[in-house]
Amino acid sequence: MNPEDLRRRLTFYRDLGVTHLYKRSAAPAAEPSASEIVLPSLEPPGDTLLKIREDIGDCRRCRLCEQRSKIVFGSGNEQSRLVFVGEGPGADEDAQGLPFVGRAGQLLTQMIDNTASKEGIPIRRDDVYICNVVKCRPPENRTPLPDEMEICGEFLFRQLLAIHPKAICALGSTAAKALLATKDGVTRLRGHWHKWRDIPVIVTYHPSYLLRPYNQNAKREAWEDLKKVLHFVYD
Ligand code: URA
Repeated sequence: MNPEDLRRRLTFYRDLGVTHLYKRSAAPAAEPSASEIVLPSLEPPGDTLLKIREDIGDCRRCRLCEQRSKIVFGSGNEQSRLVFVGEGPGADEDAQGLPFVGRAGQLLTQMIDNTASKEGIPIRRDDVYICNVVKCRPPENRTPLPDEMEICGEFLFRQLLAIHPKAICALGSTAAKALLATKDGVTRLRGHWHKWRDIPVIVTYHPSYLLRPYNQNAKREAWEDLKKVLHFVYD
């Protein structure tokens, strides 16, 4: 682990209230090397979404804080058996503090509601939980940078561990990268199951991509992916 990563992780654990990071009884005077560190589990006992949101606080851990209006933590059923993970807030989400409320969000709502209804599955968007890899809007809606994903990813992982859904649906390649540590794109990853920890993950296209008019094939495939994950979770 390089010194920068180490410093970031130490800050993260300090913010969690974890103080026993060193193998030695007293912290060494010099900055510790990676071999002297014992990183605790990312599952603080009794973790809850409320606690995670409190730990995020008025976050200043990365540069995305500079231009955000609101932190977008997540929304929906906190006991959901299905969690959707997107990339990061856009302009509408940044203004409202809620995930997927802009055009892409409206498409996601339609996809969930219509597919569930056609398949005879009695759920709607409000019955699932929706969040993002990064909680603050990247300027100009750019893709989150690796360090932003890593820092905020810690909170995403805690959210997923606290909810522990039966399945996760990764929307687009940023979510897939964060969960599966892969460089493969959605076309390669979609259509079969992966795992994040012990939780099955399906990868599908991001709704923003589906809004582009020439992506009819992808739209059909996304509906297939959604059917698959809904039946797996709710049958
Ligand atoms: N795109 C995302 O990835 N997340 C949102 O919340 C909105 C748009």
